[in-house]
Amino acid sequence: MKNIIFIAPPAAGKGTQSDLLVKKYGYHHISTGDLLRSEVASKSELGNEIASIMSSGNLVSDEIVTKVLEKKLSEIKEPYIFDGYPRNMVQAKILEDILTKLNKHETIAIYLNVSEEEAIKRATGRLSCPNCNRSYHKYTEEVKPKVSGKCDDCEVDLINRDDDSEETYRVRYKNYIDNASPLLNYYQDKEMLYVVENPIYPNTTFIEIENVISDIN
Ligand code: AMP
Repeated sequence: MKNIIFIAPPAAGKGTQSDLLVKKYGYHHISTGDLLRSEVASKSELGNEIASIMSSGNLVSDEIVTKVLEKKLSEIKEPYIFDGYPRNMVQAKILEDILTKLNKHETIAIYLNVSEEEAIKRATGRLSCPNCNRSYHKYTEEVKPKVSGKCDDCEVDLINRDDDSEETYRVRYKNYIDNASPLLNYYQDKEMLYVVENPIYPNTTFIEIENVISDIN
């Protein structure tokens, strides 16, 4: 199976779709946001350095995020899902070099095309498990936790991310928009890009993603 790069605004559903792909097809999910949040939670020197950048909604340096990505890649096998990386053209070129060096360059990009207002709605209702990082949503039936406020798998209390407030979300969305077009053009030119329009419902979005996967693998 080819690796998948998800390109979408924050809170568009990349985490939910990744969870479904991991469960059904055995992909390995790499979310640079999750990796950086673990670093912050560990209170390491690096974690302390990036905590305020992350809570402001701004991007961590390419150098730091690439370092955590490379560490993770050395620990897990293909096929990978890249969620939240690359976020700009510098990172896209770095990822291509890394995968070529590892001889693991069979990759496609899937663009989840969600409007800003829809993405804000999702961000503000989003819940996640601090233990396994599984994502839930307060209002979307299919991804509501079975017991309100608890992770279905770990049974620990779910949390709202502090960067999911509307104010911080707008900063994150602007950072996304500033970088998304060149990335989309880049993958389009390489004929690696597949688009899912208006991915509103998790189950129908998943079917569309499965259709892409079965066409290309
Ligand atoms: P996410 O969970 O993907 O929304 O990421 C949360 C935060 O982590 C972002 O707002 C950034 O501060 C940081 N982050 C995650 N991935 C990257 C990346 N590829 N480049 C720079 N910063 C990142």
